[in-house]
Amino acid sequence: MEREYVDILVAGGGVAGLSAAAGLAAAGFSVLCVDPVPPVTTAEAAGSDLRSTAFLGPSIAYLERAGLWQRLAPHAAPLRVMRLADAGETGTLRTVADFDAAEIGMELFGYNLPNWLIRREMVAALESLPNARLLAPMRVEAVTPRWNGILARLSDGARVTAHLLLAADGRDSTVREALGIPARRWGYGQKALAFTVTAEQPHEGISTEIHRTGGPFTLVPLPDRDGLHQAAVIWMETGRKALTLAAMEAPEFDAALNARACGVLGRLALASERRVWPIISQVADRLDGPRTALVAEAAHVVPPIGAQGLNMSLRDIATLVDLAREARDAGRDFGEPALLSRYHRMRHRDILLRVAGIDALNRAAMAEAPRLRDLRRAGLRLLHGLGPLRRGAMRLGLGAGG
Ligand SMILES: Cc1cc2nc3c(=O)[nH]c(=O)nc-3n(C[C@H](O)[C@H](O)[C@H](O)COP(=O)(O)OP(=O)(O)OC[C@H]3O[C@@H](n4cnc5c(N)ncnc54)[C@H](O)[C@@H]3O)c2cc1C
Repeated sequence: MEREYVDILVAGGGVAGLSAAAGLAAAGFSVLCVDPVPPVTTAEAAGSDLRSTAFLGPSIAYLERAGLWQRLAPHAAPLRVMRLADAGETGTLRTVADFDAAEIGMELFGYNLPNWLIRREMVAALESLPNARLLAPMRVEAVTPRWNGILARLSDGARVTAHLLLAADGRDSTVREALGIPARRWGYGQKALAFTVTAEQPHEGISTEIHRTGGPFTLVPLPDRDGLHQAAVIWMETGRKALTLAAMEAPEFDAALNARACGVLGRLALASERRVWPIISQVADRLDGPRTALVAEAAHVVPPIGAQGLNMSLRDIATLVDLAREARDAGRDFGEPALLSRYHRMRHRDILLRVAGIDALNRAAMAEAPRLRDLRRAGLRLLHGLGPLRRGAMRLGLGAGG
């Protein structure tokens, strides 16, 4: 049976796992990243991830240090304004609130890119690094912590010993379960449809989130493609309605899409498949285990509101990379319990606050009853109408206060 030794084993080659592997390798660690599903790196291929990710300011700083941003930047659409709008019964926008990066002294909030393209560029970056390797298809089957390392059994029977294991293996994390770390999970009876549209009008760097019932409908800027304006859509609805929308014939869906979009960006046309994602919140009780750190969706899942999910994940990863580098440079063990419990303390509070905040926003966005919808509209007016509150909300969204 083969046996391999690495500094750090990353379980999971999603966007979070790939970002972690590149950042750790750039910091000089030897890294092995494994994933049971080979990365799908084109929009059209089966299993392609048609979501997009808005990387906010601090995430870009991490991606630069990891040597990834240089590859992603040419494909990114800038995000200048976050527009929140409340739609009335008739499908017209009643309240529109713009949150402009310029107001907090920034040119932009960040950049948006399609997930399949992010994976393509991150896989290429890992391939160019001599101290990083991506193995797929390959899963972590079992883990055994030892005093001086953690032993992982992979799906081909090979064994890998690492000083530190990063669990980036998603919301149903094998590693979290194997180590018996409890997680609280709750649902909303809601699903999200993710797809791409072409639009009659340019987005001009404005991301628009429209609230009516069932959940938010968000249009996020993408770069123009083949001379056409493009946007990524996340349409959250009650589960049954989302499945009905996903199964609709193209002309019927086209009508429903344009009615829900309230004319934002002019006429929209579906430009990709429709993918359905279940919406849940989840948070692990601890982010550390023996020689193990939980990051990204293995540690926390939130509904896709305010581009928080992966940005929280990159904060986990950046924190861990810094702690591991510091320990190694000081000649200490970078998988020691004190370091991992420090990681837990540094990240868990911010995660709990954000999960609670996004949970509340999602419940407000789902509101059906007219009185609750009026309350939501009043809340949006209040948040937007008071300068300090408005600027505070923008800074919080970018990652301040954690
Ligand atoms: C509809 C939608 C839209 C979103 N939009 C945004 C956004 O705009 N901005 C933002 O910041 N966030 C957004 N998010 C959240 C963001 O997509 C997630 O935070 C991110 O995808 C999580 O990445 P991950 O790598 O943790 O999980 P995943 O992408 O699920 O990756 C986990 C990986 O682990 C692998 N794996 C599973 N088991 C094992 C095992 N035993 N061994 C090894 N590997 C394993 C899986 O194959 C998978 O590739 C959105 C989420 C949804 C649902």
